[in-house]
Amino acid sequence: MTAPVRTRYAPSPTGLMHVGNLRTALFEYLIAKSAGGVFVLRIEDTDQERQVEGAEQVIYDTLKRVGLVHDEGPDVGGPYAPYVQSQRRHLYRPYAEQLVAEGKAYRCFCTRERQESLRADAEGIQGYDRHCRDLPAEEVERLLAAGTPHVIRQKMPLTGTTAFHDAVYGTIQVENKELEDQVLLKSDGYPTYNFANVIDDHEMRITHVVRGSEYLSSAPKYNLLYDAFGWEVPEYVHLPLIVGRNPDGTVSKLSKRHGATSFDDLVREGYLPEAIINYIALLGWAPGDTREVFSLAELTETFRISGISKSPALFDYDKLAWFNAGYLRAMEPARFLETAAAPIDQALGGRCLDRTLLASILQPRVERLTDIPGMIGFLAALPDYDTDLFTHKKMKTDPALALTVLTEALETLASLPEWGVEPIHTALI
Ligand code: GLU
Repeated sequence: MTAPVRTRYAPSPTGLMHVGNLRTALFEYLIAKSAGGVFVLRIEDTDQERQVEGAEQVIYDTLKRVGLVHDEGPDVGGPYAPYVQSQRRHLYRPYAEQLVAEGKAYRCFCTRERQESLRADAEGIQGYDRHCRDLPAEEVERLLAAGTPHVIRQKMPLTGTTAFHDAVYGTIQVENKELEDQVLLKSDGYPTYNFANVIDDHEMRITHVVRGSEYLSSAPKYNLLYDAFGWEVPEYVHLPLIVGRNPDGTVSKLSKRHGATSFDDLVREGYLPEAIINYIALLGWAPGDTREVFSLAELTETFRISGISKSPALFDYDKLAWFNAGYLRAMEPARFLETAAAPIDQALGGRCLDRTLLASILQPRVERLTDIPGMIGFLAALPDYDTDLFTHKKMKTDPALALTVLTEALETLASLPEWGVEPIHTALI
């Protein structure tokens, strides 16, 4: 019998939820739920310097808002609690000590200055020069007795190759001599991210590790750790890079200069959570047919790992706006009115107009909620405008002709017995 699928979303609380993080969360959720499995939330806060106040709450709020409900996590508990790495701190040292005792890791007493100077003069050597790897046992004892601060590093094999398999990128092989003796436990007793995620994924019985392709180059190191402990390696699913289009037509890693990149900023710009999730699902995944519009339940039904592509995925704001317009149009009119009420009121600036009527005119036309003030602001105050707008060569109109037509239209409209959309439309055509 194969183990039930268990995935984890493991964000570091370092700021707003970037679309890349949200996509990772979504794919983790879909991989678990499409197989009837368990979706775990784990907060990775071992890098204390990078923590941002309030960022953990942003994670909970975003997941809730888009409907990615986790089965286990810091707020809901579960069989492998605690789910916050800083609360698991005491768990990592025994594993690191086990590797030291087995000769698979060692204590490194090099000062930070020495390590930094190595980086500066490195010629050919990548990173740490393994200075403490073979220190005599007595020397280690002496330094320990003197209370010398130290880290624990993993002994990487000096020869041979390490291969790992990724569900999207296939089998990748690296030369062991290129792998640095990575730090497992820092001198403050905190594990490094590289160590903690392996221990936690193993302890939490994670079967599929889904993360951005920027972690691909670390995967061999993780494999060597699983091997050192004799543990089964989970299935790796690395997701393609998300890129944005530059003004010169080239693409580069999505960043703020392309537009909003966090969930909160996208919502602030007038995109609906359900449109964002639908669009993000298609960043690097395709259903294998021509469908594009999916609810979360439909995604859960359709999602397959084999549909994930390794080519960079373009974040196209026009396409997102297209999805958004579709979701706005498909809303029940009452829900659209509720959703659009704030920007409509903002546009009217206190002027009392029929909001239901306005909403019915806006619903088929709006792409983003934030476009509404620009579309109907003239109802609150007619701005100065250029009479050039009455000149249209093809239609052979000019300000003089416009004046005649508008004067006639005014008479026609004034004499209308019923002031409604239909009669106005009929009277003017
Ligand atoms: N804490 C890491 C991050 O936020 C997670 C990487 C992973 O999923 O393993 O980037």
